[in-house]
Amino acid sequence: MSKTINIRFYEELNDFLTRNKRKVAFNHTFSGNMSVKDVIESLGVPHTEIDLILINGESVNYNIKPGNGDFVSVYPVFESLDISNITKLRPEPLRHPKFILDVHLGKLAKSLRMLGFDSLYQNNFEDDEIIEISISEKRIILTRDLGILKNSKVTHGYWVRSQKPKVQVNEVVKRFDLTKQIEPLNRCIECNGKIVEVEKEQIADLLKPKTRKFFQNFDQCSNCKKVYWEGSHYSKMLDKIDIFRNGMQAQ
Ligand SMILES: [Zn+2]
Repeated sequence: MSKTINIRFYEELNDFLTRNKRKVAFNHTFSGNMSVKDVIESLGVPHTEIDLILINGESVNYNIKPGNGDFVSVYPVFESLDISNITKLRPEPLRHPKFILDVHLGKLAKSLRMLGFDSLYQNNFEDDEIIEISISEKRIILTRDLGILKNSKVTHGYWVRSQKPKVQVNEVVKRFDLTKQIEPLNRCIECNGKIVEVEKEQIADLLKPKTRKFFQNFDQCSNCKKVYWEGSHYSKMLDKIDIFRNGMQAQ
């Protein structure tokens, strides 16, 4: 017995569909007992690209068999919507976006690192290099240069609208629904390395005498070895992070 559903694919999942099925809801008839996963893959969309399936507005898993007349919506991994509350397909519900920034966005890179986001940046990256790294490491390209995004090889990129670094941070956090993923002081501002706790004895040689005298707890970048501690620099960063957070809530 055949069934007919009304199905729509979102964002880049449309790349897998034939032209007449892109960005519209369409009726699809299939035979018998197919699971929603099989139906979707029979239309050409690999399940690895999918983060969320809704049937009649409810989040479902791959094995559900859609009923006749059901409305099915299918969302990709990189959909910006924060769907962590309703997704059922992945044990780790929300993706953790990683970025690569073009050469004009150094300040934005530092701010994103301050909030704990994996943000690759070098002021000597060539466009081709940025694109290659984006593809091989699944990083979203952040750029003020539309030219990069027009390259047909680019799959995930975002054109940063604002020219002001502080506004840019808000823009990116909003666009990718990152508010809940902010983990301050988790990434090295200078090099994007992971920050880890370190025993004072291990880094004592690197400290100035006053710092050694007045502070006990230290963190260190696992990559460039920069030492962080709760001195004035640290509290300034926390103040900035508070400002980011408050600004985001106000919006
Ligand atoms: Zn570092």
